Order: sequence, then C-alpha cells, then structure tokens
Amino acid sequence: MTGLSDSFQRPINYLRISVTDRCNLRCIYCMPENGVKLMQHQDILTYEEINIVVQAAAQMGINKVRITGGEPLVRLDLPRLVAMLAQIDSIDDISLTTNGTMLGGCAAELKSAGLKRVNISLDTLNPDRFEFITRGRSLADVLEGIEVARSVGLEPVKINMVVMAGINDDEVLDFAARTIDDGWHVRFIEYMPVVTGGVVVPPTVPVSEVRKRLESMGVLESCLPAVGNGPARYFRFPQASGTIGFITPVSEHFCFQCNRLRLTADGKLRPCLLAEDEIDLRQPLRDGISLNGLKELIKEAVARKPRGHQLSNGYRLQGRPFSQVGG
Ligand code: SAM
Ligand code: SF4
Repeated sequence: MTGLSDSFQRPINYLRISVTDRCNLRCIYCMPENGVKLMQHQDILTYEEINIVVQAAAQMGINKVRITGGEPLVRLDLPRLVAMLAQIDSIDDISLTTNGTMLGGCAAELKSAGLKRVNISLDTLNPDRFEFITRGRSLADVLEGIEVARSVGLEPVKINMVVMAGINDDEVLDFAARTIDDGWHVRFIEYMPVVTGGVVVPPTVPVSEVRKRLESMGVLESCLPAVGNGPARYFRFPQASGTIGFITPVSEHFCFQCNRLRLTADGKLRPCLLAEDEIDLRQPLRDGISLNGLKELIKEAVARKPRGHQLSNGYRLQGRPFSQVGG
C-alpha cells in the first residue's frame, strides 16, 4: 500500500460515500420543502460498483470510510454494502452519518455487518421544533435510534447539532447537559452558507459564541476525541462522561488538515465538499475500467484538491446541494 497525499502535503486517508440523494426529511437549511430533482435509479452506483471504488482507494492508502447521503438508511439493504466494505482488509473504520429516524430498526444488523460507529444529526430536543426544522415528525424515533445504537455498541455515537441563530441556538446548554446526564458526545457545527436555492439561510452562530455560552455551565477541559481524526476540537466538563466538540468550517476553517475525498451517489469523485470540481467514475466503471485505471482517476482527484474553501470570500455552490454530496 502507498500513502496518498495531495499537492499541499496533506495525507488523504478518508473517503465519504454518499449512497443516495433521497431523504425522508426536508431539513430547512438542507433541502427545499418539495425536495430537489432526484437522480434516476440507473444513475446511482450499485453496491458492487461502490465496492470496486473502495477496493482501489484502499490499495492507495484510504483506510476509513463513512457512509452518508441524502439519508443513507432509506437505501435498501445498507447492511449488505457495509458487509462488502468490511471484507476489504485495509479498511479499518466504517462509520455512518444518519438523521437517526430509521436507525433503531437496523442498528444491530449494521453492527453485525461491520459498521463501527454512527454520527446522528439532531438539531433540537423539542418535538415541535423538530417538526419545524426537519419538516418531519420523528424526534422520538431519533432518540430511540441513539439509544439502540449505543446499546448495540456502535460507539462512540456522536450527535451533530448545526447551530442556527434564532432557530435552535437557545438549546446549546440543553445539548451540553446531555454530555453530563447521559454521556452523549455532542458536536456543535457552524452552519455553512453554501447554497441559496429554496433553503432557509439562517445566520451562522460562530462557535466561539457557543463556547462562551457553555462556559456558564462550568470549565471546559480540553480532551482528545474518543475516536476519529476529523476536524472537531474536543472538550468536556469535569463531571461529564460525554464530550463536546466544535466544528468551525466558517469561522476557523480547517482545510489545512483536510484528509478526505467524497464519492457522490451518482459516482463522481469530489476533491472538496465546497468546490464544484468532480471526476466521473461511473462511466469508466461501466465501461470496465481496470483497478489500475481507477487508481489513476483517484490520484487525479487527490491532485485536484484545492488548498481551501472560499466561503469567506462570498463563494456559494451553484451545483449540487449538500444532500447530494453527503455534507
Ligand atoms: N441525512 C444524513 C444526516 O442528516 O445526517 C446525512 C446527510 S446530511 C447532508 C449530513 C450533514 O450535513 C448533517 O449533519 C447536516 O446537518 C449537515 N448539513 C447540511 N447542510 C448543512 C449546512 N448548510 N451547514 C452545515 N451542515 C449542514
Ligand atoms: Fe435529509 Fe440529512 Fe439533509 Fe436533513 S440534513 S434533509 S436529514 S440529508
């Protein structure tokens, strides 16, 4: 195996795989109420095709994959994909990002298939507000999903909250309290103003402001993440078994330590979440490209990783919404 690194000497060892652009929720900041134009079934990579891409990437040094969406659990038989990826020797971490609404029913099967851990997106603990933010009705299902995931050992379960001014920022102390009362691992994420078409664009709350509010609950001690080497910085209250993470894509961007590539559901390899550039793998896969040919395309995607995103210069994505790229 050779290690991959990009033109800025960043090691690249992590692939995020979007398995569908479909979702059972319509979060106000992610999707328009009526959804977005959906990919055709035949345009979406099969599990076998995804598996070939991951095999090629693994031979080049990718050792962590995360399955995302849209909502990955709306795709039929996801444990089958997890089981396939778990067979690849050098992949040592398979994780999932989900809205949690369907997790309770399949967490055990995903765990047996080889899934290691889950991140669950949850922006409010208030049922009415959950309905408003997601335009859906299943806060109780998400809370159940969290508990089932923990009980079957998909740990650490991380709860990701996008903090939005005037929408849910009054709940940051409630989420922080769960790190003490229930051992939750909560991560506060800055909203990224990426697209405008048909979605609500709430004012971003800088994480420094969130942190200031949390300090009213006690001293936050710096700590290491339980697992993973992503962009969050971790802290905990002395009496808490859970942790608090801060993810600051806007106010203190962490592009200098970006270690990832993204694969969209329709088979485009995307060097950066926040840039439109993509390399098509689907057609070459369907034309029977060799593993070596695939590796060349992966190498090209790595070479095309930009130094950093341009959100602070006012750049906005024109193309795909996050629901198609995986967030
Ligand atoms: N449906 C799954 C979920 O919600 O976890 C996976 C896909 S979703 C696009 C992945 C993550 O992106 C979610 O945590 C969501 O909150 C986040 N996200 C979507 N739009 C965002 C934005 N504009 N800024 C910050 N995070 C965003
Ligand atoms: Fe669906 Fe996730 Fe987007 Fe919410 S954030 S609409 S759950 S894809």
